[in-house]
Amino acid sequence: MDTLSKTLNQNVKIMKSRVTKYAIYGTLIAFIAIILATLLSCYVQYGEISLSNILETQKNNATLWILDVMPFVFAFWGQYTSSIMAYEASTMIMDQTADLKDLTVALEYKAAHEATHDAITALPNRLLLMDRLEQAIQSALRQKASLAFLILDIDGFKEINDTLGHYSGDRLLKQIVTRLQGMVRKSETLARVGADEFAILMQIESNNENILHIVKKIQKIFKNPFSIDSLSLEVQASTGIAIFPEHGKDMDTIVQRANIALSVAKQDSKKYTVYSKQLDKNSPHRLTMMGELRQAIENDELVLYFQPQINLHTRKVIGVEALVRWEHPEHGFMAPDEFIPMAERTGLIKPLSIWVLNHALSQAEKWHAQNIKLNIAINLSPVTYLDTELPNLIIGMLSLYNVPPNFITFEITESSMIKDPSLAMEIMNRLTENGIKISIDDFGTGYSSLAYLKNLPVSEVKIDKSFVTDMLKNDNDNVIVQSIIDLGHNLSLKVVAEGVEDKETAITLKKMGCDILQGYYISRPVCNDDLLIWLPKKRDKKIVK
Ligand code: C2E
Ligand code: CA
Ligand code: CA
Repeated sequence: MDTLSKTLNQNVKIMKSRVTKYAIYGTLIAFIAIILATLLSCYVQYGEISLSNILETQKNNATLWILDVMPFVFAFWGQYTSSIMAYEASTMIMDQTADLKDLTVALEYKAAHEATHDAITALPNRLLLMDRLEQAIQSALRQKASLAFLILDIDGFKEINDTLGHYSGDRLLKQIVTRLQGMVRKSETLARVGADEFAILMQIESNNENILHIVKKIQKIFKNPFSIDSLSLEVQASTGIAIFPEHGKDMDTIVQRANIALSVAKQDSKKYTVYSKQLDKNSPHRLTMMGELRQAIENDELVLYFQPQINLHTRKVIGVEALVRWEHPEHGFMAPDEFIPMAERTGLIKPLSIWVLNHALSQAEKWHAQNIKLNIAINLSPVTYLDTELPNLIIGMLSLYNVPPNFITFEITESSMIKDPSLAMEIMNRLTENGIKISIDDFGTGYSSLAYLKNLPVSEVKIDKSFVTDMLKNDNDNVIVQSIIDLGHNLSLKVVAEGVEDKETAITLKKMGCDILQGYYISRPVCNDDLLIWLPKKRDKKIVK
């Protein structure tokens, strides 16, 4: 600013020191006026213009003296006006330059803020977090202090976003952030590091109690539901925790280990996991598993198992539930709970569901060709179920395989319906229009509104196995099972009990009026070859008298 004002003042000085065109014009006009006035006065006074007459006129005429001063007046006036103008112009330029400088500083600040902060939540982003982590590590090294690095992942956020829309998703994020901000201190960093991932960096006294305290604080935040418009959303988060210097002495190791802990927490459906060396055994496997699952789908490393269902009234096997397994070349036989939740999170669930549909329908076609009239129940994950392409995809597949649609049941969980009831209803209608049946799986574990269950084109409810397995020991479970049976029947639905592990439970369920049984007592899920061996022998077992 100083140099600028110096330059401008200098310009004004130059203006003052130079003859400006206004001064020249003024002076010229004044000279012309003097000449003309002198000539005219000379002629009027002496009747003739000559040098001696002109000199006499100039000497005697006082009015001309005033006129003679004019060139100096004009010269001064011209110079003065120009200086004033130059000065005003320079102050104007100085003001504008100052404004521009302020604007540039503001823009630079904004650009720096945008580069280091998240636009939706205004929280520090990964870049700034890494910078702070590096600094925190340096200062913790000097002070011999410990740091906790937490990565928090919102469970099922993608589904919320997909079903409620991005606008509502963003609003939910903001609400989560507000609660998290209430939890962190000024000296701690809360950052957004992914679409539904947050990180918290804090200095701690390194002991288990302390870490547990942090975890409890996080859990408290998610205890009350969030509200978006009139919807009340129960949201949970999984947290992976790594401690400096215990779990790593540099930034990259700490971040990687917190991520390993998070992926273990997610996969084991735990609220939180603190990193430990044992996790490493699994983590490379866990981290590469998704790539392998993609390959497994393409290379047909998946297998369908079938678990029979018995009609309690006719005592006949009426159908099977198709349950997928993965024959992993290194890790052996893997149950769906080990890979389906991860497939749902990564989007691999779609190709997986298509694989299951193709194989289940192809198998059903073969049974029908052999006159084995088995109903086949296929599980649809909430993610797949709420995919609007699904009805067309299924209808297209049905035309590929020669299976009557009334021999196909789709099992969907209550959560599929809660997320977007109108879409769920629309998809359900499209499927049932084509003769397919719908069963509500794991019934009793969600929050189904009984009112809308009445309006859904559902043909059966499956009582969740957690109620069935313990119903003889636990009175509450017993009451729940009876209530579901009664409710189902009042709504003209068939009631299936799954997880029947012993004869006593089977007999009790029959007495309670249950329609269909499924469980280890009848048969474990088996491969097609074993099913074909089991089917003719099933009567020998006198399943339920
Ligand atoms: P689900 O749909 O509730 O399936 C029933 C689960 O209970 C099966 O476990 C079955 O093996 C098990 N089960 C059956 N009878 C008994 C019993 O008497 N006692 C006990 N304790 N358990 C019994 P599985 O095969 O491990 O499947 C677990 C879950 O994985 C399934 O739960 C389902 O949600 C999911 N799943 C399985 N196959 C598929 C699939 O093809 N697609 C999708 N989206 N999900 C699948
Ligand atoms: Ca099921
Ligand atoms: Ca179930």
